[in-house]
Amino acid sequence: MAQQDCCSQPGLMLPAEALEKMYAACAPLNRVEEVALEEAVGRVLAEEICSLIDLPAFDNSSMDGYAVRAAEVVKGQPLAIAGKAFAGTPFEGEIPAGACVRIMTGAPLPPQMDAIIMQEEANVEGDSVSFNVEVSPGFFVRHRGSELTQGQKVLSAGTRVGAAEVGVLATAGHGQVKVHKPITVALFSTGDELVPPGQPLKAGQIYDSNRHALRTMLTEMGAEVIDLGVIPDDLQLVRDAFRRGDELADVVVTSGGVSVGEADYIKVVLDEMGSINFWKLAIKPGKPFAFGKLPNSWFCGLPGNPVSSMVTCYQLVQPFFKHLGGEHRHQPLTLNATLTNAIRKKPGRQEYQRGVLSHNAQGQLEVATTGAQGSDMTTSMSRANCFIVLPKDAGGQEPGVQVTVEPFNQVLGGL
Ligand code: AMP
Ligand code: MG
Repeated sequence: MAQQDCCSQPGLMLPAEALEKMYAACAPLNRVEEVALEEAVGRVLAEEICSLIDLPAFDNSSMDGYAVRAAEVVKGQPLAIAGKAFAGTPFEGEIPAGACVRIMTGAPLPPQMDAIIMQEEANVEGDSVSFNVEVSPGFFVRHRGSELTQGQKVLSAGTRVGAAEVGVLATAGHGQVKVHKPITVALFSTGDELVPPGQPLKAGQIYDSNRHALRTMLTEMGAEVIDLGVIPDDLQLVRDAFRRGDELADVVVTSGGVSVGEADYIKVVLDEMGSINFWKLAIKPGKPFAFGKLPNSWFCGLPGNPVSSMVTCYQLVQPFFKHLGGEHRHQPLTLNATLTNAIRKKPGRQEYQRGVLSHNAQGQLEVATTGAQGSDMTTSMSRANCFIVLPKDAGGQEPGVQVTVEPFNQVLGGL
């Protein structure tokens, strides 16, 4: 048997099992409000959306050209132009036999007309027009209800509203929609060594990068972040921060202090104030991830190592937030790609190595790691556009094998 990963421990759960536990531990918050369309963007629909109208609502032209009775069109023979129809201004006059109507894209098809001839095929002479083509009924006509009929479902509850969805909502006539209220998150970093970027560093200090990266990720997830800053490694101050977070937010997310070092007070406070559901997973990076319950809120404890905190935020907090916020279950896109460099790995934990996914000259997907994969190396995240997901029991991988990749979504500024 291959040598085991030195940090693996028997009995630790895989991320997928941990997520099932998180889902089972709490029901979606289900706080619904009705908002105007502009405010719905970035929010999750709390109702199924059906079209209020037929789409299109009336027969109309898909081209700039001439509305005709198809049966009357003979190539080269002139028809009289009876008038003009514009989008928003229908032609409502009589159209004698042997006449047609100049029509613009989106204008209602005049009654009794049944086809459109595009203007590129028309030869205008004074008040009449002849055509280079003949047509059949229905040419270039967008028929009423051909996309959707009134009452037909267009979006399901649990959909996050983006540009495409808000467009559909507007098209279907909805000025207001019911959405879930955003999840509120209290976020703080812990560590005596942490200094805000922009200040000089004293011996042993580092910049607090996690709070910035995590705040961005949580905001991208649609959460409202209450930033409680950096909390020193002091039991009472950690306790106070938890109390504040628990009063203010649905979820308290922390970075650091969940390892087994002497200044790691998170577990101590959790034991005092709430309960730990689980602590440590068979995941790399991110093994010390913790999940638990506080008196009024939920707790996600992320490791301090920057990459570990981002990976666990992405792989565990993101799906959990979707669950809490009434969104469809998180189902990340995964692809197979050919690995182009060797990967070192020992069996024992599911790994999320950072990769660069691209097409090779033959148009096939290939992936390379971003190089050194230390969990303290934030550049391994910023250089990547995907995770290379390696199963728990897998060992090292050679170039040329197929591996599973998970492209980053917008939470990591991805595809
Ligand atoms: P901890 O989980 O607190 O033991 O931290 C593990 C490692 O992550 C240590 O090297 C910390 O200095 C580092 N670390 C902890 N918090 C942060 C942070 N907010 N930003 C950057 N590095 C951090
Ligand atoms: Mg620490």
